[in-house]
Amino acid sequence: MKTIDFLNFSGKRALVRVDFNVPLDDKFNITDDNRMQGALPTIEKILNDGGSVILMSHLGRPKDGPSEKYSLKHLVKHLSFLLNRDVQFADDCISEDAMKKSKALKPGEVLLLENLRFYKEEEKGDEIFAQKLAQLGDVYVNDAFGTAHRAHASTAIVAKFFPDAKYFGYLMASELANAEKILHHAEKPFTAIMGGAKVSDKIELIEKLLEKVDNLIIGGGMAYTFAKAQGGRIGKSLVEEDKLDLANNLISKAKEKGVNLILPVDSVIADAFSNDANTEIAPNNNIKESWMGLDIGPESIKRFGDIIGNSKTILWNGPMGVFEMKKFESGTKAIAEAVVKATKNGAFSLIGGGDSAAAVSKFGFSDDVSYVSTGGGALLEYMEGKELPGVKAINS
Ligand code: AMP
Repeated sequence: MKTIDFLNFSGKRALVRVDFNVPLDDKFNITDDNRMQGALPTIEKILNDGGSVILMSHLGRPKDGPSEKYSLKHLVKHLSFLLNRDVQFADDCISEDAMKKSKALKPGEVLLLENLRFYKEEEKGDEIFAQKLAQLGDVYVNDAFGTAHRAHASTAIVAKFFPDAKYFGYLMASELANAEKILHHAEKPFTAIMGGAKVSDKIELIEKLLEKVDNLIIGGGMAYTFAKAQGGRIGKSLVEEDKLDLANNLISKAKEKGVNLILPVDSVIADAFSNDANTEIAPNNNIKESWMGLDIGPESIKRFGDIIGNSKTILWNGPMGVFEMKKFESGTKAIAEAVVKATKNGAFSLIGGGDSAAAVSKFGFSDDVSYVSTGGGALLEYMEGKELPGVKAINS
């Protein structure tokens, strides 16, 4: 893998695609800077070599060009603090001003470009836009794993203008190495824990995992589609009516392949989708008419925990319940604790990005698992066996 370790950046201007899509509050304060922290080792290596850095990223999903809400200028102060030096800002990513500032960069200096998605051309993967971006640097580095599954101008297309000068950043490299470990070198028993809202989002991954895992634990909202498919009464729980056959199919496939598929046996049920709802514990296949399952129950926690405790490799994607609400966080928290314990006992644990990463961070366990991925969709697609455009662009 061609990482930035292959190059001494002395005297070079590195155009680095990072994922600085951080959450901001109403006053534009950064509420979680994990993504910025993740890119620091790459930026620091280039600066320490005596290179300069032009950072480009998206922020949010701006619809109609520039807007205050999605401006990356809100990140300048914190980035200056993290890098312990002034960070310059170009308020248009392909303007004359951006070009002038990038040309004038001296070794050790950093320039942050305004939100790439203020131009529609970014998401369209426009070649002329990519070429303009390319003029800003001598070398291209991609360290944005979170958007590696997109063939956008800055994540993939721009690479063609650097045929001999394109590299993976450290974050990208470690994301790929950890995903690879799960995909091709998993020590057995290998357990995947799938949760979250919908089966439909994760069918391809579940099918792929059936080829590899010993145990497949399914929790969260998606488990009720399985319960209903098996003839259970699920009340008003989340269900995808058009995926009932698919759920039964997956159950049969697991049997055929000798995979131990474990579904919840009980749930925390509620009479409303609210933290103030009345709650009870009920069997997963016998939920009262107007109630809904919002978390896995104590018996399911125990069964899942036992399996996790005996595993040597663990992949977890998607919460076990509506963990955002205190009343329904216990299942997700207990599973996080089981994963932490297994990790302490020598298992390798990879937490998929998005909501599972948010949950692990909410409970303060991010440092107690083997790896927390920064990629949601990107990790899923990689695990499904797809070639990520951002990765292909550097490798080809
Ligand atoms: P996903 O993005 O598919 O991983 O889904 C994550 C979301 O699923 C979170 O916001 C959870 O609140 C939600 N979720 C998990 N379990 C349930 C459930 N039993 N009913 C409704 N939503 C759920």
